[in-house]
Amino acid sequence: MQNSDAASPLAPEWLAVPEDVNALHAPMWAEDVQRTDDGELAIDGVPVSELKAQFGTPLFVMSEGDFRARARSFKDAFDAAFDDICGGVDVYYAGKSFLCTAVANWVAQEGLRLDTCSGGELAVAARAGISGANLGLHGNNKSDAEINRALDMKLGRIVVDSLDELERVAKIASGRGETAKVMLRLTPGVHAHTHEFIATAHEDQKFGLSMAEDSTEAVGLSAAEEAVAAATSYPNVELLGLHCHIGSQIFEPDGFAVAAEKLLGFLAAMQEKYSIVLPELDLGGGYGIAYTPADTPRPPAEIAQAMAAVVRSKCAELGITSPRISIEPGRAIVGTSTFTLYEVGTLKTVRVDAPVDADGKENVTFPRRYVSVDGGMSDNARPVLYDADYSAIIASRASDAVPQLSRVVGKHCESGDIVVRDVYLPEDVAAGDLLAVPGTGAYCWALSSNYNYLARPGVVAVRDGSARLIVRGETEEDLLNRDMGVANV
Ligand SMILES: *Cc1c(COP(=O)(O)O)cnc(C)c1O
Repeated sequence: MQNSDAASPLAPEWLAVPEDVNALHAPMWAEDVQRTDDGELAIDGVPVSELKAQFGTPLFVMSEGDFRARARSFKDAFDAAFDDICGGVDVYYAGKSFLCTAVANWVAQEGLRLDTCSGGELAVAARAGISGANLGLHGNNKSDAEINRALDMKLGRIVVDSLDELERVAKIASGRGETAKVMLRLTPGVHAHTHEFIATAHEDQKFGLSMAEDSTEAVGLSAAEEAVAAATSYPNVELLGLHCHIGSQIFEPDGFAVAAEKLLGFLAAMQEKYSIVLPELDLGGGYGIAYTPADTPRPPAEIAQAMAAVVRSKCAELGITSPRISIEPGRAIVGTSTFTLYEVGTLKTVRVDAPVDADGKENVTFPRRYVSVDGGMSDNARPVLYDADYSAIIASRASDAVPQLSRVVGKHCESGDIVVRDVYLPEDVAAGDLLAVPGTGAYCWALSSNYNYLARPGVVAVRDGSARLIVRGETEEDLLNRDMGVANV
């Protein structure tokens, strides 16, 4: 193939010109995605042209094997690392990242539990037949109906987010003559993202109970301690322990370590002061994945061992028995299992001013090609919401054309409707080609919308060489279903 090594001055620094524009960067893809001998992308042996013919595009294409393998790898890695500390770890898959009954079922089969944060997510779990004992319920504003539903389903844990909510849960449980199993979500002042974490004394966010000592009116008491004291005094509340969630797309274990130390210190102090035992500690989710070749996540075993070392030594220092540890990965289990398959439509190239070119000449322009696909911000809102970076490759064939700096955009009436801001695609990409965007398993379908009356794509799961819908795509009928019609005007 031809190769042009010259990076476009319009490209971000982290984006290298690919040596082979057809190559799959393995960390970004499900384990069973490969090119066939004729160059087409296939998942577990199923070529994308078949998926397109059977299900249309856009389409979320999920590897069931990859999802299960990642779920197992978290469970196995953390169980192994924490075996001698607390007999293993409970892994709660964060359902908000992607949830349907099939996935809830896989989660249970692989020995994981499930985190939910609304009545709707509880409804999916119930439909999937997940036992309440294996469910958690999060949320900073749970309705009474949701709290009642949690008690109806005999949930293993309700993660209480505020003093206000604690009182409400206690009252509802008492009214029913039942006991609510409760964790308290604390804000340890640790915020982590990718390679960094920052520590703050005070928390300015909607979630959780502050651990800062001046966070309530009660002299010297933090909101967190006030909640422990209150929870201990309510006869219809069983306080299981403490919870924190420090961020998302985290690569380094040090933020988790600092949070774990803070929570263990607090847990030990509370056990002593209130003569109680808090048997559980949940360190949340947030484990990062590779969206682009610039992302370098660590394997679960490495993170698990680093966190275990901290928990082990902190518990020894405090002279306490370690509580049972739980974690809540979402993205790191489902994110890489899935790619989105799009069809290319309109192409255009614009020339963009760059301040100086490589030879120092001023006022030169460089080409940027816009590649429009048949979806966009309605099936992947993350670039718009979070400036998230993605990658893409040509999927329906291999190409021997040179790489060209491209921007993959959707079809919405919005100029910010970008799917992949910067990627080198082969120069000969044309209308009708299929494009695959990897790493779309988490927070894409989950955040999808009907903006511009686009139908939300379906999700297919591929396993043992065959593909089946686990969520069907919407039809025009679905789009009009809730419109009450002109007869009612
Ligand atoms: C979102 C969330 C998670 C999962 O985060 P990931 O980045 O997908 O791992 C876990 N716990 C809580 C409380 C969350 O809000």
